[in-house]
Amino acid sequence: MNDRQSLFAAAGDYPYVLEAHGISKTFSQGGLEVPVLRHTELKVRRGEKLAIVGASGSGKSTLLHVLGGLDEPGTGKVSVLGKPFTELSERERNDLRNRALGFVYQFHHLLPEFTALDNVAMPLRIRRMTQDDARREAFATLDRVGLAHRAKHRPGQLSGGERQRVAIARALVTRPACVLADEPTGNLDGSTADTVFNLMLELSDTFDTSFVIVTHDPDLAARCDRTVRLRDGVLHEEPVVPV
Ligand code: ADP
Ligand code: MG
Repeated sequence: MNDRQSLFAAAGDYPYVLEAHGISKTFSQGGLEVPVLRHTELKVRRGEKLAIVGASGSGKSTLLHVLGGLDEPGTGKVSVLGKPFTELSERERNDLRNRALGFVYQFHHLLPEFTALDNVAMPLRIRRMTQDDARREAFATLDRVGLAHRAKHRPGQLSGGERQRVAIARALVTRPACVLADEPTGNLDGSTADTVFNLMLELSDTFDTSFVIVTHDPDLAARCDRTVRLRDGVLHEEPVVPV
């Protein structure tokens, strides 16, 4: 049994990969307390593709950081596969994050001096997999995003779309239950954004991985199973528009 199977087995038939309950977050800006999230609620089902939309500055990145355990909420609770993420020690939380979640950002955050292959292998190396095993898994995942032929390239030698595909492979190499993607196509031209977005949706099906994707583009959001809009610190369900 691999890590993911054992995590899922431990979670039984638990339907949610991610749950956020009563999440509030306030920042102080120039002596002022600015509430960004106000008792917001969210549940993400296994395999679900969820789009988060909202105006710039509405708190989408803040929410993703809290969901991923990269930032503490002021109040509220986040659970990952039914485990209370926010109540774990830092070490347990880091471990659960590494095993259950993957991250993709607007700017790829790949390490410039490493090859595509070694960037993708990094999360496996962090969990102490041997270099040979990690590279084998990384190569297979790079192949799934169509970039086996770019394995030895460094990020600077890749196009913007290719770099994001490497970042997606890095997020998926651990076979996470859920990928959190913050405007992953925000820095790409229209047709490249389209291709990269469709790749994420396809990989979501292939790996039975949930995707929570922040996007500005309503056409891309409409391809997800569900869209929620962050407004005034709370998530609102968007009506489903038939396509
Ligand atoms: P979005 O991703 O929707 O554009 P953000 O989550 O980045 O929005 O930011 C929401 C609000 O919180 C903004 O007003 C931003 O200035 C503020 N903010 C975000 N991070 C911090 C921080 N570390 N310190 C202070 N204010 C912050
Ligand atoms: Mg943001």
